[in-house]
Parts: sequence; structure tokens; C-alpha cells
Amino acid sequence: MDVTEAPVCRARLSGWGRRPIAEAEETAPRSPSELAGQLARPYLPRGQGRSYGDAGLPAQGHRALNSVRCDRFLSFNPASGVLDAESGVTLQAILAMTVPRGYFLPVTPGTMFVSLGGAVASNVHGKNHHGSGSLEHFLIEVEVSTPAGTFTCSREARPDLFLATVGGYGLTGFITRVKLRLKPIDSAQVETLRLRAPGLDSLFALFAKHDKGYEYSVAWLDTLSRGRALGRGVLMLGNHAPASGRGKAQDLERREKARLKVPFSMPAFLLNRPGLTAFNAAIYRFSPAGAAREGFEKFFYPLDYLRGWNRLYGKAGFFQYQFVIPDPKGEEGMTAALEMLARDRLGASLSVLKRCGDDEVMLPFCKRGYTLALDVPYRGQATLDALDRLDELVLRYGGRVYLTKDARLKPAAFRAMYPEAKGWMETVRRYNPEARSNSLLAERLELWRT
Ligand SMILES: Cc1cc2nc3c(=O)[nH]c(=O)nc-3n(C[C@H](O)[C@H](O)[C@H](O)COP(=O)(O)OP(=O)(O)OC[C@H]3O[C@@H](n4cnc5c(N)ncnc54)[C@H](O)[C@@H]3O)c2cc1C
Repeated sequence: MDVTEAPVCRARLSGWGRRPIAEAEETAPRSPSELAGQLARPYLPRGQGRSYGDAGLPAQGHRALNSVRCDRFLSFNPASGVLDAESGVTLQAILAMTVPRGYFLPVTPGTMFVSLGGAVASNVHGKNHHGSGSLEHFLIEVEVSTPAGTFTCSREARPDLFLATVGGYGLTGFITRVKLRLKPIDSAQVETLRLRAPGLDSLFALFAKHDKGYEYSVAWLDTLSRGRALGRGVLMLGNHAPASGRGKAQDLERREKARLKVPFSMPAFLLNRPGLTAFNAAIYRFSPAGAAREGFEKFFYPLDYLRGWNRLYGKAGFFQYQFVIPDPKGEEGMTAALEMLARDRLGASLSVLKRCGDDEVMLPFCKRGYTLALDVPYRGQATLDALDRLDELVLRYGGRVYLTKDARLKPAAFRAMYPEAKGWMETVRRYNPEARSNSLLAERLELWRT
């Protein structure tokens, strides 16, 4: 193969939480030959930088190898819904191409601005995890350039590489191509039902009552309310809407709405507790309740309308803390966590509660139970100490923290949460023995010593 050089620049990189920040070289190969020219040096694959913490930040002396320019569709079969694409294709681009043809992503995170490779590397889950599981279940095959060679892997061919790469945070190597099965839909609309729950117990009861009737469910939670209002929230349920009878082309038509942009970082004084409490109370009171038929963007990607919303947390950045508490302790553990959050005054405005099932990859995050994701503005050591206490609580209930959102978990807590890490790292080392692909996350969690 003719090996050509991709341009390299020096960059200040961060995840979506804007902390930590890493100074590193970055390059975005435009072709397989440019990519091949990069793989002999230390690197870390990077997509759209939408992981929150340090999973997408290269370790010291490693170069960020960005997939943004490796973004070609290779094939799409409109009869079977099988898509083959390079890893830099975004979920937004996939939806733009496939929704008019009657197909949707089988699993999608809460933003469409992520790359397909990044979605595979985090084994993303969506609002249908309790029924459909994570992205792993819809992958037919994945091509990975590892330091030990380039392989096409699946559950049948090199299952060790497949199960270590999916949800493997780029540590086995660079995912170049992904083949997956999409989900047929009859319209670009979603039939939704929004229900207000005055407290956590009623929210759990609503989840239990409606989960079977709706493919998608997620609740926004007021993590700042206390007492009887602890855990009040709004449950949002949805199913892909059937055809309306207007004709297929019209039913599958999308209407892109204008996006707003956050122009600068929010001053810290606006992020004080009274401000956030009032904001949460207003969301709870004024969220529309009841049934509706709406475009899929509004239901799946409400945050995507506000470009750069991560600046709302100010220059210091924020953590997104997402954890799962498995059943049968899911409800009890969530209640204890919310009590602690209210006491420690940690929560912010965008907290999301979901039901989940079990992941089957080597380093699984989701376990059947409840998962809560909350934004925590960074306010120095007090924030770190409070999150350490939350780790202890999560561990007591047999739970774990989601690494694609993490920037501060300690190695001992990680090892206790993820007993599977040893087996996963044995496989990672088989394909990447000298840590040529390596991240700040891997260094911080001491993964190479696991
Ligand atoms: C608003 C918002 C909502 C979100 N909602 C959800 C959600 O509901 N569920 C969920 O699971 N996640 C969610 N996420 C997290 C997001 O889906 C994941 O972090 C995803 O991995 C980001 O993809 P990316 O392209 O931005 O990858 P990056 O952030 O650039 O990288 C993420 C990881 O993938 C690796 N990687 C990237 N590209 C490749 C490649 N080509 N080959 C090998 N490894 C690669 C990187 O090394 C890194 O470890 C959300 C994020 C945001 C900002």
C-alpha cells in the first residue's frame, strides 16, 4: 500500500465535560493509506469528542487519531437495512441517509453528533436498553486495525477481539469499518406520552407500569428536590409512530429545526444552588404532560438543538456522573443515591434516569436495573470528595460508573466495580501488547497494571 502522511497539528483537547484538558498532537487521516501511515506511532483513536471525560484523550506522548475524515458510506441494503460504513460517519449522517429510506438506528445515545466508531467503542445504550440492549446486539462485524494486524471480527470470527473492542474505549486499536443492522420504521415521527411523577416511588411505579407498552422510556429527574418531592420527575415514553396514511415519502420526511448556539461560557455565579433549584422547579412544573406525535429529533435529541450547551457549566467544566445500580437493589440504591445528592447539594439540572438490561461485552457497563446520569458542575476539591462518597455508595449497592462519561474515578474503585477488567485487559494486551493505543483514562485507572 502507498503510505502517505496526514497533516499533524498541536491541539488542546477535551471531552464534552471540558475537563481535563490535554495538549497533544492530532491528525485526521483522509484515507486508509494515510491511516496506515499513522498506526506505527503511539496514538489514540478519537471521534467527535463527545465522551465527557478522558476516554478520548491520548496518553502522554500519544497522538489523537481522529476519524472525522474517514466518513464514507460503503454500502446500504434497503431491503435488509444492513449498513456498512467507515467509522468516522456520524449518527446524524446515518439518520439523514436512512430515515427517508425507512430505517432508524437500532440504538442511539442522547446526541446524534457522535461517530459510529465512538459509539461502538463505548457500546452505547439508549432509551430502549431494557428491551433491546446496547449497540453490540446490532453489529454484524467490525474491522479493527490493531498493533498486531488488521482484522474483521464479529461474535463468530475472532469473538475475543470483537467483545474486547466493543465497549473497549479504543484500546485494542482503531476501528476502521462497522457493519450493522438498522431498524425498519414507517415514519419519522414518534408517538410520545409524558407523565409527571411527584416523587421517586411514583416514578418507579410509572416505569414498571409502562415499560412493556413502550419501546423507549427515560425520565428527567429533579436531583435537587428534597423530602417528599425527592426524585420528582417527568417520565417520557415513546414508540415509533405508524404510517399516517399521507404516503410513505411524506411520513418519512424530516423537518430540521433551527439550532441555537450558546455563545460563551456561563459565568459561575449563575450556576449557584438557588438558580439551579428554581430552574429545576420550573422544568418540573411547566413540562408539557400528555400524549403527542412529534419528530424523532425532539424526542431523541432535545439537547442537540442547543449547540455548545456544555458551556452552560462555565469555564471550569463539569463531570457527568453516570452509574447503574443492578436489581434487586436498583430502587433502594437509587433512593439512597438521591438522598446523598440532595444532602451533598451535588445535582444539577440535567439528570436522566433509565431502566437497563445486561450488556454482554467483556467490559460491560449496563446491568439490569436503574441507571442515573447527572451533570455535576466542577467546584474544586469538594466536588471530587462528594463524588468519591457517591462511588462508595454505588459500590455498596453492587453498581458501577460509566467510563465514557468518567474523568475522576480512582483505580481501586474501578477494580471493585469492574471485576471483568482483568480478563478484558488480557485480550487487549494480546492485540496491543505495548500500549501503542493508549488514553489518559487507561493511565488514570492503571489499566495496564490490571
Ligand atoms: C449530549 C450527550 C448525550 C449522550 N447520551 C448517551 C447515551 O444516552 N448513551 C450512551 O451510551 N452514551 C451517551 N453519550 C456518550 C457518547 O455517546 C459516547 O461517549 C460516544 O463514545 C462518543 O462518540 P465520539 O465519536 O464523540 O467519540 P470520542 O468521544 O471521540 O471517543 C470516545 C471513545 O471512543 C474511542 N473511539 C472513538 N473513535 C474510535 C475508533 N474509530 N476506533 C476505536 N476507538 C474509537 C475513543 O478512543 C474513546 O475511548 C452522550 C454524550 C453526549 C455529549
